[in-house]
Amino acid sequence: MAIPLLFGPYGVPTSDGVDQFATYGANAVWFHGFNSQAFEACEASHIAACVEFRTFRADFSKHPELMPTGVDGLPIRYERLVQGVCLSQRPFLEEIEATLLDGLRSFRPAGIWFDYLTYGGWFETPNPDLQQSCFCPKCIAEFNEATGIDAATPAEILGTYLDAWTQHKCERVAKYAARYAALVRTHLPECIVGAYMCPWTPGEYDGALRRIFAQDYALLAPAIDVFTPLIYAKKSGRTSTWGRELLDQMNSYVPWESRTGVRRSQRGRRLLGRMDSFVPLQSRTGVRRSQGGRRLLDRKDSSVRQRSKVQLILDVLDFPDSLIATSEAATPSWGLQMFGGAQVFEDPEAAGIFRSAIDRIRQAAASQHASA
Ligand SMILES: [Zn+2]
Repeated sequence: MAIPLLFGPYGVPTSDGVDQFATYGANAVWFHGFNSQAFEACEASHIAACVEFRTFRADFSKHPELMPTGVDGLPIRYERLVQGVCLSQRPFLEEIEATLLDGLRSFRPAGIWFDYLTYGGWFETPNPDLQQSCFCPKCIAEFNEATGIDAATPAEILGTYLDAWTQHKCERVAKYAARYAALVRTHLPECIVGAYMCPWTPGEYDGALRRIFAQDYALLAPAIDVFTPLIYAKKSGRTSTWGRELLDQMNSYVPWESRTGVRRSQRGRRLLGRMDSFVPLQSRTGVRRSQGGRRLLDRKDSSVRQRSKVQLILDVLDFPDSLIATSEAATPSWGLQMFGGAQVFEDPEAAGIFRSAIDRIRQAAASQHASA
């Protein structure tokens, strides 16, 4: 499946707004959930409707049982914003799948981007409070069963088995990504599967991308067509060139992908099917399986010609500097989302800047494609 270059705002559109988007080169809108009003507005203006689908995030004041358990045996600390849930809470996980299935049966989005596909914490801040989780008895038991390790306490896990713990968390998140992606592809084979990502490189914050948030690009790649790091520069205390710099670095750690044609598409599905065999619900030999997973990904690497797509989401609070800088990246963003971006299209001058930037990204993508 060829992944089109999609550009546009994130936010529920109005009918008038969508008409304006197209005038300035936007061809897509991303919005939260399976929102029928948003689908109608997009359809009327021939704009691709893309759903942001919430996975591991809940209102803890209503569902305290979903709070991940920290090293001290208490729920993790958080202030205003937090994501991640205890992944041993079966009713909540069943509810996510039921909501996804319901949407897949009722609507035909061009893409679905999974959000909050992580362990507990919050990364859209200059000073992240990075905590290990979840050490509830069920999550510890699952770790022991998956790895064959017999650890009793958070201190023992983190002190003696940190690598296995990190790998186990990443496989657990990747397993759900594979499950949700398989549901999407079964019901809507042409639907793009995206994932919003912690925007940190693998080395930042002492490896917190995997160690804390459990997002492993290699493990997620079989499920995810488009990775979307959240480039919220002001919120995160970064400069407006952050997105451009990240795009040029991501070449080094985003793996090659395989679903670029019919044959590869079948191969991709087989890989996904086989992924179930190394990241099952009740994984017993996590360490060995994770090596198997790496071998599988290595084999995939040798047979493909195209990288996974990376499409940034920028924040309208950083407009226009962050967008202009992003448009100058040597490695173009594969399309682009702008959080809260509808307001850009209400001002012709701002909308013109948007148009020029995405024209430049399109040209860069086309010349890269031509030279590939
Ligand atoms: Zn737990």
